[in-house]
Amino acid sequence: MTDLSATTSSAYKQALEVIASVEPRIAEATRQELADQRSSLKLIASENYASPAVLLTMGTWFSDKYAEGTVGHRFYAGCQNVDTVETLAAEHARELFGAPYAYAQPHSGIDANLVAFWSILAHRVEGPALEKLGKKNVNELTDADWETLRNELGNQRLLGMSLDSGGHLTHGFRPNISGKMFHQQQYGTDPETGLLDYDKVAEKAREFKPLVLVAGYSAYPRRVNFAKMREIADEVGATLMVDMAHFAGLVAGKVFTGDEDPVPFAHITTTTTHKSLRGPRGGLVLAQQEYAPSVDRGCPMVLGGPLSHVMAAKAVALAEARQPEFATYAQNIADNAKSLADGFMSRGAKLVTDGTDNHIVLLDVSAFGLTGRQAESALLDAGVVTNRNSVPADPNGAWYTSGIRFGTPALTTRGFGHDEFDNVASLVVDVLKNTTPGTTKAGGPSKASYALADGIADKTRSASAEMLDKHPLYPGLDLS
Ligand SMILES: *Cc1c(COP(=O)(O)O)cnc(C)c1O
Repeated sequence: MTDLSATTSSAYKQALEVIASVEPRIAEATRQELADQRSSLKLIASENYASPAVLLTMGTWFSDKYAEGTVGHRFYAGCQNVDTVETLAAEHARELFGAPYAYAQPHSGIDANLVAFWSILAHRVEGPALEKLGKKNVNELTDADWETLRNELGNQRLLGMSLDSGGHLTHGFRPNISGKMFHQQQYGTDPETGLLDYDKVAEKAREFKPLVLVAGYSAYPRRVNFAKMREIADEVGATLMVDMAHFAGLVAGKVFTGDEDPVPFAHITTTTTHKSLRGPRGGLVLAQQEYAPSVDRGCPMVLGGPLSHVMAAKAVALAEARQPEFATYAQNIADNAKSLADGFMSRGAKLVTDGTDNHIVLLDVSAFGLTGRQAESALLDAGVVTNRNSVPADPNGAWYTSGIRFGTPALTTRGFGHDEFDNVASLVVDVLKNTTPGTTKAGGPSKASYALADGIADKTRSASAEMLDKHPLYPGLDLS
């Protein structure tokens, strides 16, 4: 990370004073958040540290502007500067990912997926349904026509990766709208190897004949062959939607190329901008030209007014990702994940799929006699921030789980390298070996309570501090 100048540092301090003059507790929480992030090992696979340029771009008066519509076609006057912002964000996204079309408005990853789902329905179902009714657009529909259209739209099938295999809740999981608006089925991973079995996915697709085949994941520690997924989609006439929310940074940095780059193969690719891509919190949709007109209707179809200040920050982050240094960063993310995985395995720990070839390492903590919930809490006590995660066919379910998910994007941004990630593995194993599961009030085994051996949390914290001090977060930024 590049050093911030003393002037920038003092500007931040003054900015916090402005905030403190209205609500001092928010200024204090903001200061404390920096202190906490600086002093802990952030291993949450979906988090990162955005650059000061990205962060500063979000704190401006673009926040005050309404700009519903699209570039050049807004429902509000005075959007010329927002047009500049959205045009640049989309242009950087198209160039970076080699996509024919990019839509920078989605407020988050879930919103990007909602835009994608409705775009696919509009393109594949609404158009043909209108034709059947002899109508050119939805404004001409009678009440009876609407009933027909609703039936057509609401009778579609979606096939996505199951949650406990590493899929995301927006890929057809029941509690999410994707699992309610579609008839959904899921494909999983092999229970023995934990790996995707493309023949099984194809078999399921042939049986189920989905309108939408979703690929992409939040907790799968391996690369996906998107050429194969497209072949499967083509064979059954499905639209291939790839959600690269987690690994967009590895696509941007050309770690995933050829069959592992989803953008040329997917009809629609969605992503977040704040995970490995290291931008502001937000979403992005990329599409082949035939889907562009329906994606362009994201607002007002499912989105409200765009967050212009965040779109501006997306443009800045995407410009950063087009620099050669970002490719080095992306390669380091993958190399560091290997060090972390090797570090775990050389100490006898069990990983889902026995390794990684992306940015995720999924540790099965059942061998330590712990649930994911216990392991997550014990690690947090020792200053190691992770999240619990299901493993394939998890006996502890989605709440307690049996796994811990680790990711390397954040600490790689801080400058951690091979030896430090090996050391992280050693610290984690040490904490888990020194954690014992607790008992319930009735005396049975508890899935939540646990006890750490004396001194282990302090020992871990001081070993972490040594590494963290060598790689300061936002160096030069002094709020004291
Ligand atoms: C994180 C994630 C999302 C959701 O992103 P939000 O910005 O939290 O809405 C969607 N899909 C996948 C695969 C993700 O990992």
